[in-house]
Amino acid sequence: MGTKRKVSSKQWLRWLLPLFAVCLAVGIYIVQGLPGLKPPVVWPSGNLGEFVLPDIHDEAGYAVFIDVGQGDATLLISRGHAVLVDAGPPGAEDVVLEVMRACGVEKLDAVVATHPHADHIGGMRKVLETVPVDAIFMPKAVSSSVTFARLMETISSQGKKIKAPVPGDTLAVGGFDITFLWPEKDYEDTKNMNNNSIVLRAEFEGKRLLLTGDMEKKVEKTLVEQDADLRADVLKVGHHGSNTSSTKAFLAQVNPHYTVIMCDGVSYNHPHTKVMERLMDLGVDIYRTDRNGTVVCRLAKEGITFTVESQNKERPAPVSSYDADDTE
Ligand SMILES: [Zn+2]
Repeated sequence: MGTKRKVSSKQWLRWLLPLFAVCLAVGIYIVQGLPGLKPPVVWPSGNLGEFVLPDIHDEAGYAVFIDVGQGDATLLISRGHAVLVDAGPPGAEDVVLEVMRACGVEKLDAVVATHPHADHIGGMRKVLETVPVDAIFMPKAVSSSVTFARLMETISSQGKKIKAPVPGDTLAVGGFDITFLWPEKDYEDTKNMNNNSIVLRAEFEGKRLLLTGDMEKKVEKTLVEQDADLRADVLKVGHHGSNTSSTKAFLAQVNPHYTVIMCDGVSYNHPHTKVMERLMDLGVDIYRTDRNGTVVCRLAKEGITFTVESQNKERPAPVSSYDADDTE
């Protein structure tokens, strides 16, 4: 009896030690990540409520126009892959990351900063610090703002290179084929940062989205004159619906069925009445993040559908913690 008990206790120890080692390894991984392995993503806690967001592994493609107040942040997801185009103003990082988490995005194939204004890159640093990012696209234009300097610091401390795309460059992400349309090689508008905006077309199963950052009428005119392939089913309205953009000729060339305006409805008189009139004249559907909250566009072979976070969302006070000159 005594001998038997001794043997079984040794066998038990033989199992216990490896088990202990495994538990310790898992513990270390959870706390700080094992060397050489991907550390766990630490997500902020947020307040999306009951709005159901699409799953990154869905067969359809999605553009999630995230309500970041006065600014842009658009997440493209498809078949396990994701691209973030802009990351909203400073303070928007939590909602951007919360949307990413809700969609199941744990890594980004690419981040695109359309241009270096704070209402587009304010939340980007935290995004880069939180999830792995394969590629970063930015125009060559630089800004003297602290927000921009801090973002560049983070990018260089991570040893990442920035790619400045030129018209015709492409990127395949999941089911999306992304084509860059602007800026031209070596183009820089030093007087107007908005005109340096990266403009891109994302196509999924023949359905097209056009994202134009804050591009203004001067570049819209150039693209129309160049007969660039601007046609798209869904247009993210340029420069938050400002009257600096969305000329009749440009809208005619894009010929969208659906439009999304990203603004807080308070700042800079966005969207402008004249832009709203031009869009209504076209008879397009108009979604607005200030009214609808986060707007989800689903692209599939059978068609395009939209869901929105809420109607007539109560607005927070406009963000005023950064220099207004740096935001439009
Ligand atoms: Zn902007």
